[in-house]
Amino acid sequence: MGKLFVISGSSGVGKGTLLKLFLSRNPEFKLSVSCTTRTPRDGEVHGINYFYLSQDEFQKLIDNNEFLEWAEFSGNRYGTQKAYVEKKLSEGKNLILELDTIGALNVKKIMPEAKLIFILPPSFDELEARLRGRHTETEDAIQKRLNSTKAEIERSTQYDYRIVNDDLDKAVEELENIMCS
Ligand code: 5GP
Repeated sequence: MGKLFVISGSSGVGKGTLLKLFLSRNPEFKLSVSCTTRTPRDGEVHGINYFYLSQDEFQKLIDNNEFLEWAEFSGNRYGTQKAYVEKKLSEGKNLILELDTIGALNVKKIMPEAKLIFILPPSFDELEARLRGRHTETEDAIQKRLNSTKAEIERSTQYDYRIVNDDLDKAVEELENIMCS
C-alpha cells in the first residue's frame, strides 16, 4: 500500500511550484487529480490539473456517494473520488491530495494514517502581493480568497506539520524530510 499525504495552503502561497519541484525530485509520489466545478485557468488541462465537471455532473457524484470528501470553496465545488484514491494506494503509489483545510480534516477523520501538511506564506502581505501579481482573477475573487485564507491558517493548527514557504529549496527539503523518511 502506498502512503497518503494531504497538502494545503492558500492559493498564491507557492504551493504549486513547491509541489512541482518535489514531484520532479521524487517520482514515486503521485499528485491526485480532483474534480471541480470551477472553470479552467489558462494552461490548465482536463484530467491533469482537475476533472472539470458541470454542476449536474458533480451533483451526480455526490448523490452516488462517490466522493471521499468534497467541499465548497470560493463559490466552487471541489471533490476527491474514493475509487481513485483506493486504486492509487493499492497500486503502491504514494499519493498527495491537494485539498482545502475542511477537506483535509475530513480525510484525516476517515483515514487517520494520512499525514496533513500545511504550507504557510512568509506573511499575509506577501500572499496578497503574490495573488495580485498572478493577474488571473478579479478583485472580488481575490478578496474572497484572502478571507478564506485567514480561516484556513487558523484551521492549520490541527495539522501534523506546517512549513513556511519563504525559500523554495529549504521548503522542498523540509517536505522531503517529512514525506520520504
Ligand atoms: P484552486 O481553485 O486554486 O485550484 O483551488 C482552490 C482550493 O481548492 C485550494 O485550496 C485547493 O487545495 C482546494 N482543492 C482542490 N481540490 C480539492 C478537493 O478535491 N477537495 C477539496 N476539499 N479541496 C480541494
